[in-house]
Amino acid sequence: MVRIMTIKVAINGYGTIGKRVADAVDAQDDMEIVGVTKTRPAFGCDLAVRKGYPIFCTYDDADRIAAFGAAGYTCHGGLSDLLEIADIVVDCSPGKVGASNKEKYESAGIKWIFQGGEKHAMTGNSYTSSANHTENLGVEGTRVVSCNTTGLSRTLVPLYEHCGSLSVECTMIRRAADPGDSSKGPINAIKPVLKVPSHHGPDVMTVKPEIQINSMAVAVPTTLMHVHVIVATLPEGHGLTTESVLSMWNARPRIVIMNGSETGITTTAEVMEFARDIGRKWGDLHEIFVWEDGVKLEGNTLYYFQAIHQESDVIPENVDAIRALMNTEPDWMASVAKTDAAISSYNHL
Ligand code: NAD
Repeated sequence: MVRIMTIKVAINGYGTIGKRVADAVDAQDDMEIVGVTKTRPAFGCDLAVRKGYPIFCTYDDADRIAAFGAAGYTCHGGLSDLLEIADIVVDCSPGKVGASNKEKYESAGIKWIFQGGEKHAMTGNSYTSSANHTENLGVEGTRVVSCNTTGLSRTLVPLYEHCGSLSVECTMIRRAADPGDSSKGPINAIKPVLKVPSHHGPDVMTVKPEIQINSMAVAVPTTLMHVHVIVATLPEGHGLTTESVLSMWNARPRIVIMNGSETGITTTAEVMEFARDIGRKWGDLHEIFVWEDGVKLEGNTLYYFQAIHQESDVIPENVDAIRALMNTEPDWMASVAKTDAAISSYNHL
């Protein structure tokens, strides 16, 4: 009899990204959630209870663990207890907090995945399915790159693979905050990121170093999505047309292409309404959205816009990264197909 190994996954940090990764993992038949952590018995614990995920405390001290019981939640222990029963931990703690958790994962002897709020230098590896699944096979730990880097990679990596070289300038029009976040802004201003170039574009080089890319960024008062304004210079003899670039992207997973004029989907508001209409949990859109009528190749210069649902494009990537690190699926396209099939079973009405 063939024994199918189920990968035991811990989620450290059950917030915006953590709760989504937990559900995406739970939907797969080759992995299971063995526990999620909360810092205190507050908002979010009820969701974990409803989903049936065992709750652990982010910290190991007895007082903090006892506070969960006092508030009526069953707490199964501290982070160390959770790490003991897991094969791999997906760290979804706030950006720059993860570094302090790394030592705990290494001492527990389990594999670890951080998110895009951490620096590549801290993790040593970075991951996105379309760029470098193979390089991450069997490694001890990695970082799933940010929502912006994931989005850039989805459309730029196939272009690079066709052309053999690529030089890119992009402007990131960034959402000010996530919809559930009341503490960030701006609420009535356009805020340029005064570190030039911004880190967003160059971060692509942590997963595909061959792509030459720079970016500038502005934050605007919206919570729905980011928009990228991209100008890519292709090498002489690229042999592409606007139509063949669109066909290339159409053949790749996790890219949705729609014509704005024909569909009436001309802004991020309608893109998100489309995601809600197809019944995605939380109204998520895991795919990158490209406006067909906003793509134009003139000579060697390719112009296009794409929209990124910041809370969800990295979610399936975390599932693929688990398979890469556990070395259970060497083929990135096979992992993506498996991940997305399982997620779509809960995505659609
Ligand atoms: P969040 O604030 O929504 O959630 C973080 C969770 O971690 C919260 O539940 C918090 O209580 C918990 N936490 C706090 N301190 C912790 C600690 N020391 N150890 C473990 N957990 C702790 O944050 P988020 O938006 O889910 O972001 C998580 C990571 O994902 C960050 O690295 C971020 O940059 C990255 N990311 C976020 C988005 C996004 O749009 N929200 C997109 C892509 C990547």
